[in-house]
Amino acid sequence: MLHGHACVDTGRVQPSPHILFLGPPASGKGTHAKRLARELGVPHVAAGDLLRQAVTLGTEAGVRAGAYMQAGTLVPDGVVARLLVERLRAHDAQRGFVLDGFPRTVEQAKVLEEHLGRRCLDVILVLDVDAQELVERVAGRRSCPQGHVFHITHNPPRVADVCDYDGERLVQRPDDTEAVVRQRLAVYEQQTSPLAGFYERSCRIEMIDAAGTPDEVYARVRSAAYRVLEEHADDPR
Ligand code: ADP
Repeated sequence: MLHGHACVDTGRVQPSPHILFLGPPASGKGTHAKRLARELGVPHVAAGDLLRQAVTLGTEAGVRAGAYMQAGTLVPDGVVARLLVERLRAHDAQRGFVLDGFPRTVEQAKVLEEHLGRRCLDVILVLDVDAQELVERVAGRRSCPQGHVFHITHNPPRVADVCDYDGERLVQRPDDTEAVVRQRLAVYEQQTSPLAGFYERSCRIEMIDAAGTPDEVYARVRSAAYRVLEEHADDPR
């Protein structure tokens, strides 16, 4: 059984894990990163969520980021990196973290390295799905203002267009239209996929087949993550 509490029914894992999810838009990063973080008892740090929150709050970062996000292009490195490093400095992130959507460029990866100092990422989980499937997944994706995510056919809410968790109305993200998704996929190929090469030498990279139901994919994510964290259980940190 996969429960949502810290380190249940597993062997010893490495304390304060540093995990990064990489994968194209709608590959399931958010869903699996959130679930793994909950299970490990560490925060899920999602660049897209932090940026959307900044846009909603109208902060300086949000004002700068909004137009890039609408267009499906990357927000400038400096804006994102400042927001993320600030989040990683918070007390709860000292227990470890699951990063989702940052870094997304080699430039951002360098900023993260500087922030982490000698301590590197323990494992990078790369979600692999084919592009046509991604476009179909995004077109059916609906979320509530709190960030609970559904899919109209693969993971429908109990009542159409209403969030199961908080009763709020489900909407389509403004950047989840087919045209913007194709743009986001192109950006991923050009700017984010080179990160695997950047990390190849210094980090453990695990490729995950991300086709299938969310539970099937999560089982693969979980076993890859725990395999690495159990190997590192006795590393001095
Ligand atoms: P997805 O992974 O499905 O594309 P996200 O919620 O992670 O969705 O990101 C949504 C948008 O937020 C991106 O298209 C981009 O405009 C912006 N964004 C998120 N993370 C970053 C980042 N690390 N660097 C620059 N822009 C980002």
